[in-house]
Amino acid sequence: MTSVDTNIQTDPFALARDLSGKHFYAGEMRPSLSGKTFPVINPATGEQVAEAAFGEAADIEAAVQAAATAQKAWKKVGARDRGKLVVKCGQILAEHADELARLIALETGKALRTESRVEASVLADAFTFFGGLGSELKGETVPFSPTIMTMTMREPIGIVGAILPWNVPLLLMALKIAPALVAGNAVIVKSAEEAPLTVLRVIQLMNTVMPSGLVNILSGYGPECGAPLVSHPKVGKVTFTGSVETGKIVYKAAAEKLIPVTLELGGKSPMIVMEDADLDRAVAGAIAGMRFTRQGQSCTAASRIFVHDSLHDAFVEKLKAKVDAMKMGDPLDEATDIGTIVSPQQMDRVQGYIAIGKKTPGAVAHACSAMPADPKLAKGLFVQPHIFTGLTNDSQLAREEIFGPVCCIIRWTDYEQVIADANDSEYGLAATVWTNNLHKAMDAVNRLEAGFVQVNQNLVVQPNLSYGGVKASGLGKEASLESMLEHFTHKKTIMINMA
Ligand code: NAD
Repeated sequence: MTSVDTNIQTDPFALARDLSGKHFYAGEMRPSLSGKTFPVINPATGEQVAEAAFGEAADIEAAVQAAATAQKAWKKVGARDRGKLVVKCGQILAEHADELARLIALETGKALRTESRVEASVLADAFTFFGGLGSELKGETVPFSPTIMTMTMREPIGIVGAILPWNVPLLLMALKIAPALVAGNAVIVKSAEEAPLTVLRVIQLMNTVMPSGLVNILSGYGPECGAPLVSHPKVGKVTFTGSVETGKIVYKAAAEKLIPVTLELGGKSPMIVMEDADLDRAVAGAIAGMRFTRQGQSCTAASRIFVHDSLHDAFVEKLKAKVDAMKMGDPLDEATDIGTIVSPQQMDRVQGYIAIGKKTPGAVAHACSAMPADPKLAKGLFVQPHIFTGLTNDSQLAREEIFGPVCCIIRWTDYEQVIADANDSEYGLAATVWTNNLHKAMDAVNRLEAGFVQVNQNLVVQPNLSYGGVKASGLGKEASLESMLEHFTHKKTIMINMA
């Protein structure tokens, strides 16, 4: 347990300065051993708001040593008592939800009202959910023989390395570290270079109730800070969320040590609107599914929308009108619906795809939502949401993950073909089906190759619903009791001969 300022800080700029240049490990805020930092930029203005500590192998080494010591004591704490402390973390994080929401809006550009507040509140909920699961770390007895008592026990793995992306870092961090801790592990988080501050504040707050050294975080770049975490001999498990490309690097490095990994990777999720769908509901589902309010920066973004020919034109008109009415602006302004893209690199990537789409034969680009007029935001990373029609499923825009506010609407007439097209993707993260016909819904549900399939809704990951992709979208599940048992413990088999 450590003493930190737990006063709620409503000014995100001041909080960013307070957190500047530090990791949190071994119970303290600490600069990098090299003293190096990198800038944290407000994507709405291009101004620097803080520095982040530049973590390297030596920092990872120091954090691992602290985590190893803390974990030895933590695994001896009763599972329900561990859970109680995780629930307490949830309470503190709930009290700080607005503070965390403002800070995440500042560093990532996600609009406060529509995105950042939602994420900050589900963060606390995830801790509360997992904190209640301590007594579920049960083993089994096996009827092997009357004289040989045979049973299994769930044991913690040891030190878990958790590597985060920038798009929903609070929620994704919670889904990794809350179950890992309840299961008796210590954790070392590696934050995304674009979003190091809010997750640092979360770990700082958690350390006001957790034993010193148990929950640690380092900021830095992938090769310098992420890679030594994965390859450290004392790290026994890695849970990673990010791109397919990096996921493969992490998987290979983990294979060298033969340690388990969970990989939550990219997606190109199909949304199929059948001829009998409720049009208004489907349009609302497309807006939620495409995460236009998050500039489309979502792994499950419904970025391939297959609309039946009979509804296509009306669907496009309604969708355009609704997205057009959304207000793009300062992420910290309560009136803003859509904030910014996270970084100049991501902005270039998104604009590159828009340019490719415009050059695709047959494609029509519909740019929606006016660019902000405020001169203070002139250097902000704003991109108008783009709805493309006239594309086919084999076009580059429909095949590759853009991770921005660009969606492809594909007209269809043949049911067998639309199911084949929906599955014709390297990804398999999520899918939705829109119909009032139960038979059709169930047929599509059974045939779609995705880890998460929904009918007539487009919700995000929920506590205790296993979440994760198939195909190139990943390996293993998160968010549920089973994920805690399967990914953060190992099963020990015990036989006691009583003859
Ligand atoms: P990214 O792969 O570039 O980076 C993710 C993390 O990996 C960062 O913290 C980065 O520093 C780290 N990293 C980079 N190289 C590394 C290395 N060699 N060793 C260890 N760590 C390394 O991804 P991103 O741009 O931050 O996030 C966007 C991607 O994440 C998209 O593809 C998106 O679909 C995916 N994502 C998936 C989910 C999901 O739940 N399936 C959720 C959110 C985002």
